[in-house]
Amino acid sequence: MHGLMMDYPLTLDRIVEHAARMFPHKRIRTRQPDGGMHDYTYADLCRRSRRLAAALAGLGVAPGDRVGTFAWNHHQHLEMYFGIPGAGAVCHTLNVRLFPGQLSYIVNHAEDRVVFIDATVLPLFERVAGDIDCVEHYVLVNAPRDVETKLPDVLHYEDLVDGAADDFEWRSTDERMAMGLCYTSGTTGDPKGALYSHRSMFLHTLGENQAMGLALTETDVVMPVVPQFHAMAWGLPYACTLAGADVVMPGPNLQPAALAELIETHGVTVAAGVPTIWNGLYHELKARPRDVSSIRSLVVGGSAMPRSLIEAYERDLGVDVLHAWGMTELSPLGTVCKLQRQHGGLSEAEKWDVKARQGTPLGGVELRIVGDDGAERPWDGETMGELQARGPWVIRSYFKREPTPESFTADGWFRTGDVGTMTLDGYLTITDRTKDLVRSGGEWISSVALEGALMAHAEVLEAAVIAVPDEKWGERPLAVVVRTEGSAVSEDELRAHLAESFAKFEIPDGFAFTDELPKTSVGKFDKKVLRSRHAEGSL
Ligand code: ADP
Repeated sequence: MHGLMMDYPLTLDRIVEHAARMFPHKRIRTRQPDGGMHDYTYADLCRRSRRLAAALAGLGVAPGDRVGTFAWNHHQHLEMYFGIPGAGAVCHTLNVRLFPGQLSYIVNHAEDRVVFIDATVLPLFERVAGDIDCVEHYVLVNAPRDVETKLPDVLHYEDLVDGAADDFEWRSTDERMAMGLCYTSGTTGDPKGALYSHRSMFLHTLGENQAMGLALTETDVVMPVVPQFHAMAWGLPYACTLAGADVVMPGPNLQPAALAELIETHGVTVAAGVPTIWNGLYHELKARPRDVSSIRSLVVGGSAMPRSLIEAYERDLGVDVLHAWGMTELSPLGTVCKLQRQHGGLSEAEKWDVKARQGTPLGGVELRIVGDDGAERPWDGETMGELQARGPWVIRSYFKREPTPESFTADGWFRTGDVGTMTLDGYLTITDRTKDLVRSGGEWISSVALEGALMAHAEVLEAAVIAVPDEKWGERPLAVVVRTEGSAVSEDELRAHLAESFAKFEIPDGFAFTDELPKTSVGKFDKKVLRSRHAEGSL
């Protein structure tokens, strides 16, 4: 028997229409490249998104077509998040920090027909345009009228929106239509695309806003520092709109001082970004204090947030840190770490131990950990296994690829490539990515745990641990360390520091000191580069 409920399509136009109806005066503020603030409302966002959808239809964009965006976080990019899917097309976000070869590969692979490009990153796109054969229209955002460009037939974003009709009917009629496309940064092999549907993103939005998730409400002022080209800015553009939260968009300037100023000036309550961003902000705030007491949740994910940095924020600045785990393939949010009633009696230090975990799965996401033999491992807080996920916002295949056993199990779970443990009460700890794990003499050594401990040392600014080949043990850990300014902390001192909490076999054999760690296009330590530097003997 079937139920008797309405078949109401879960499409994203409903979210922006809801905001325009319920929260027409709530604000969306964007820091402009020249430092000024653009300021408008959800009513404006809805109207202009609809016009953008109409303009795209006018350009001949048909349902299912891919439309690229090469842009920082700003109000026009938000309009693209609604307007492109509202035209029935797929919003394909392009990472402005990609290598040219990867960028042209992705645009061609997706067959983008239109690409929106910020004037500030136009030269980065011009470098690859000659290698792209599918794009029919380039649309420049915030470019001067007389801009000089090598791109053919450019249009201007504001002309498109100004010239379009207000009464366009959303073309997102079926919740199973594709709405978004995001490629992983491709640390191994070619980048792979995750293709989201209206339904999956709508459910992700509800999931993200549940009480054990980010729980955004109309009282919040949310600043997504995580770029809109990185895993859909973790779904925040949709979650904020559904909640009617005020939004502060940082534009292209992600320097710590600029972020600190935005938080203080606009009373930001929730800010989200990767650990390197928050590490930079912490040091900025220590050097030049600002009032950041408005923050109720500093959301962090993308890599493990070192426990020492969680403690530093909470103890020194009174800022509550919310650790989250996710991946592009999960739309991206999988877990959020909130304390439960059972943690009420814990000391501060014990609470920080819990908060350094990646958290509990959102309602809607199922997780399991699995051993090499394919059998499920116990949730005992100690046994490590490969993390697998399933749920309505988890991919079942990559874009234009058949599902392979490396990524999907026969019984329908997605293999995350992360290794972790689960406690009995469902708190996930990521111990590594499969490819970063150090396999030493039959034991697994967690690079993430070593990095966290090293970064807890007062004279260590950043630390990454990589596996290096070893004749006797197979692999051994090597630590690459950036010292704080003026520090001369030695290898022996760091070794002694680690010996307080690690077994002897886990302590790195080698330590290399460097001025800066290489980062990936989304701000994570780039261990691939470190491994090749080590192989070349340049570490
Ligand atoms: P990429 O593969 O390009 O890095 P993602 O941003 O989708 O793209 O990265 C997802 C991966 O990031 C996860 O599989 C996991 O390894 C890592 N990750 C995300 N959040 C956390 C976290 N809170 N702690 C540790 N690792 C994390």
